[in-house]
Amino acid sequence: MVHKKLHDWYAKNGRKDLPWRNTNDPYHIYISEVMLQQTQVKTVLERYYFQFLEKFPSLEVLSHADLDEVLKMWEGLGYYTRAKNLHKTAQITQPKLPETYEALLELPGIGKNTASAICAFAYKQNLAVMEANVKRILCRIHVLKNPKEEALRELALKMLDCENPYDYNQAIMDIGATICKVKNPICDECPFSLICKAYKEKNFLYPEKKRKIVPTREVNIVVRHHNKKLYLKQRKGRFLHGLWGFEEVDEVSVDAEFLTDVEQKYTHFKLEAKVYVLHVEDHQDLYLSLDKIDQVALSGVDKKILAYFLTDNRV
Ligand code: SF4
Repeated sequence: MVHKKLHDWYAKNGRKDLPWRNTNDPYHIYISEVMLQQTQVKTVLERYYFQFLEKFPSLEVLSHADLDEVLKMWEGLGYYTRAKNLHKTAQITQPKLPETYEALLELPGIGKNTASAICAFAYKQNLAVMEANVKRILCRIHVLKNPKEEALRELALKMLDCENPYDYNQAIMDIGATICKVKNPICDECPFSLICKAYKEKNFLYPEKKRKIVPTREVNIVVRHHNKKLYLKQRKGRFLHGLWGFEEVDEVSVDAEFLTDVEQKYTHFKLEAKVYVLHVEDHQDLYLSLDKIDQVALSGVDKKILAYFLTDNRV
């Protein structure tokens, strides 16, 4: 009964025109899944999915690309480890992704959710997709505050329509995105309302929200410039590895001028930067022209700093 309602709902309301739903190409589906992990559909559609596939039309092309080029195409999407893992996975698997859940799980950056999604959507296998919106629906239907991931996965599998897993998975994702929203779910339109315990209780606080205390990291950043060129370097450490950025310093030179305060939120901390500008008389190779800066991948915070610097007409 619920499956029938769900398929009827999907036939009428599903987002069937999304490009990754109109392809069987596992590579295209894989790229969309990775991009959508932390980013809204609209942003992925407008700025990243087509552009990325145009530049890297196959796993093979991606595997031969420079990491810098991949990071440049990822610029602004954040969570850059995703781009690096895509690149590594392409190098390991090209010309073709493996076709089993277990083999996909062995690859860099492919966890259970991504492996399930690739198997379900590219290979039409009986696996339940478990992205964040789907988890919220499962928690509400079964009034679960703090479920373990594995318990949720079992529930998801039990609810899966094994006759038509593809449409079932797409439908539940769409319901999560458009009906069972975090605030004010539209239960009257929801095919799950028949079985949903949260709906019966009229209490939608499932799953429980965990309060995260995010530490703040304070830094000083200096933009050194000389003759229309700026000093940037490529990060070598784990954080934002491979992206280019301005220099972080412990001590700010007395000759530097304060430019602005900049904030950037990351998963595990908030960065608060005091940004200074320093005109130098001499420069070396690492000073890049604005054209060159346009070609390298900058992190979000460095993009903001560059914009302030240019608005301030320092060059
Ligand atoms: S009935 Fe309401 S709370 Fe339950 S799954 Fe549907 S939209 Fe979400």
